[in-house]
Amino acid sequence: MIEKPVYVTRSSLPAYEEYIEMIRPMWENHRLTNMGEYHQRLEEKLKDFLQISNISLMVNGHTALEMAIQAMDFPKGSEIITTPFTFISTTHAIIRNGMVPVFCDIKLSDFTIDENKIENLITDKTVAILPVHVYGNVCNYTRIDEISKKYNLKVLYDAAHTFGERIDDSSVESLGDVSVLSFHATKVFNTIEGGAVCFKDEKLYQKLYNLKNFGIRSEEIVEAVGANGKMNEFCAAMGICNLRHIRNEIKKRENNTLYYDARLSLISDITVRKRDPRIDYNYGYYPVLFVSEDQRNRVYEKLKENNIYARKYFYPITSDQKCFLEEYKDVKLENARDISKRILTLPLYSDLEECEIEKVCNYIKLVC
Ligand SMILES: *Cc1c(COP(=O)(O)O)cnc(C)c1O
Repeated sequence: MIEKPVYVTRSSLPAYEEYIEMIRPMWENHRLTNMGEYHQRLEEKLKDFLQISNISLMVNGHTALEMAIQAMDFPKGSEIITTPFTFISTTHAIIRNGMVPVFCDIKLSDFTIDENKIENLITDKTVAILPVHVYGNVCNYTRIDEISKKYNLKVLYDAAHTFGERIDDSSVESLGDVSVLSFHATKVFNTIEGGAVCFKDEKLYQKLYNLKNFGIRSEEIVEAVGANGKMNEFCAAMGICNLRHIRNEIKKRENNTLYYDARLSLISDITVRKRDPRIDYNYGYYPVLFVSEDQRNRVYEKLKENNIYARKYFYPITSDQKCFLEEYKDVKLENARDISKRILTLPLYSDLEECEIEKVCNYIKLVC
């Protein structure tokens, strides 16, 4: 048993003084929210860092997903092909927009949507594909792009796990019509709570700007049924500070990942991620796959008994969640259901110490 609990993640923070310096001017200008100076500055800095042409900051990743879908103006009841192996937010954002999620199975190799199963699910109601780059594994974007062109569909990526990643030398956030980011406290880059929509069509900027401000176009004109999706100045200031240190944070995560790899690759019952050389990862997660659900659960319990908190992330798959009753129980999602029973996400963050990783691995070895 280790003294200090080890959780699956730990939020990155800038030095206290650095943040205080950043927010001090707000006691003079009293500009706390509504697209203030820091909001604008963070949008510019992120465009630069992520190498993308357009971005709209939001209050959180979920709202960013909802607003990205709303901005597409799909007819109500349209179908969106998506993955059930994700955080519940992805599925909720589709349904809360009055759209119908059509679940597609995932690949056993990297847990992203199986691009070869998408075409069979397309009907005359299909308007979009909403895949997720799970754990930072990038979807087969070239194939998804071809399918979307052939059937005239929009592609919206849930890119909550790929902040700052690159593939084939381009930004992952530049893929699709839109890519949605989350800057929640638990993510690689955080603004306490926050998110963003990255997009190709620059006309979306004004549309999203209005949507996140209740759909207000001008003082007397409300042109859409929007909501309050604005990122406030304290969050934007945190983002500006955290962005200064992001490369170092990712480097430390990479070192910890390599440390885990060296210890766990010796255990035959465990599969760790094989790195795709085309991807520059952000090392946001350390998922491991066990041979059985029973073994996964025993490892989870063993760690918990010893003050280490891994997560069964993502279990169960979203389509099998209680809130959907049993609506999707007959949908064939063999791989997604299988992986969700055998996966475990181990603690990983920049300040995780090697001796802590050593202990996590030793407890795993006791069970496997
Ligand atoms: C975190 C996350 C979200 C939601 O983001 P919030 O900022 O927490 O609202 C959506 N999708 C995925 C895959 C996520 O991991």
